[in-house]
Amino acid sequence: MRCHVLLPTLLLPLALAANAADDSLNERLARSAEAIQPKAVAWRHDIHQHPELGNQEQRTAALIAEHLRQLGMEVQTGVGTTGVVGLLKGGKPGPVVALRADMDALPVLEATGLPFASTVRQQYLGEERPVMHACGHDAHVAILMATAEVLAGVKEDLPGSVKFIFQPAEEGPSDYAYDGERHFGARQMVEAGVMKNPEVAAVFGLHVTASMPTGLIGYRSGPVMASSGDLHIRVHGKQTHGAQPWDGVDPIVTSAQIINGLQTVVSRQTNIMPAPAVVTIGTINGGTRHNIIPEEVVMTGTVRTFGDEVQQRVNERIERTAKGIAESAGAQAEVKIIDSYLTTTNNPELTERMVPTLRRAANDHVVVSPMVTGSEDFSFYANEAPGLFVFLGVTPMAQMGKAAPNHSPGFLVDDAALVTGVRALSMLASDYLLQTRPDH
Ligand SMILES: [Zn+2]
Ligand SMILES: [Zn+2]
Repeated sequence: MRCHVLLPTLLLPLALAANAADDSLNERLARSAEAIQPKAVAWRHDIHQHPELGNQEQRTAALIAEHLRQLGMEVQTGVGTTGVVGLLKGGKPGPVVALRADMDALPVLEATGLPFASTVRQQYLGEERPVMHACGHDAHVAILMATAEVLAGVKEDLPGSVKFIFQPAEEGPSDYAYDGERHFGARQMVEAGVMKNPEVAAVFGLHVTASMPTGLIGYRSGPVMASSGDLHIRVHGKQTHGAQPWDGVDPIVTSAQIINGLQTVVSRQTNIMPAPAVVTIGTINGGTRHNIIPEEVVMTGTVRTFGDEVQQRVNERIERTAKGIAESAGAQAEVKIIDSYLTTTNNPELTERMVPTLRRAANDHVVVSPMVTGSEDFSFYANEAPGLFVFLGVTPMAQMGKAAPNHSPGFLVDDAALVTGVRALSMLASDYLLQTRPDH
């Protein structure tokens, strides 16, 4: 009872003093994010001109490690292949918050015409291919390098530590071939112990997108990006002459029936009221000649769902459908689904708590995003600790609706968005630490 009387009189001045200190810290972060913008742009252009495929990011990793060391951080290199992890220890005790960027590029021939366009070629699945930062991971690296410098400048006032995670192979290892042995970058990092020693209490990340205007931040509480399963179906038949199909078992007709059957996994067998699901067959290969019924057909595809339970159920239905149809034709189907990404789920409490920070970082240019059927291996960190993954628009307003999407040869990043990214990550980290400090 007494507390009701005492709280306003005794605790309010303390709370106000703490908020005033937080405000001045935020102002310092904002000023510093502005000041570092030219450096962030220079880093992005340099990294854009020297893109590297998944697990081959040596040059990018060296650049990052050198920068973090210059900032006085403890730096680990070669984490989960080429990953770099830096730990910034704040001046006061408190928890550890992690910020993550991905370093890898894509096997895409750049057609932007930029003065710093890539002409790089690298090995991809055993072949030399042109390489481009077509998903904007160059911007992610530049934003996180700048954020590291901004936070290092206020480290005496941070109650806790910030772990900077620069991971390889978000788009997958460049020697990945459905064997399930080589993992995607975030999973390699988690398996290498990046969320431990010291233990991470919360993790934040962002992704640039051509579908939103420059500086706009999009967030969503709960499931935001789909899980992704790599589907591989091998249909064994019995080879025979194309003129006498009754002497064999036709895997081509069987595959056609399987493809049709798979259309009912989502449309007839999955409750899509809470969230969508997608099953797509992307390749089909079989046969050598017009008048030979081949021995086998191989199909590959992708499975997108939101949530482990649905993912499990859809996988089971795909297997049941493919095997059942093959059996009815006297053929056999081998079905393999490698779950390469989990559903990216933003922790609802953490999201709600950090929305005011996002608003401040983006000067109120904040929207709630729709669910996205694309996938992100940020999901592996968010599976270990509460996570929040947001989208950052990088298309000038005048180009909205016309800009080339992520992963395309004409994909562009408006450099003016970088400062919002730096503000967002640095303020998310500092606000989280200030709100979680022992005396708060
Ligand atoms: Zn991508
Ligand atoms: Zn990406």
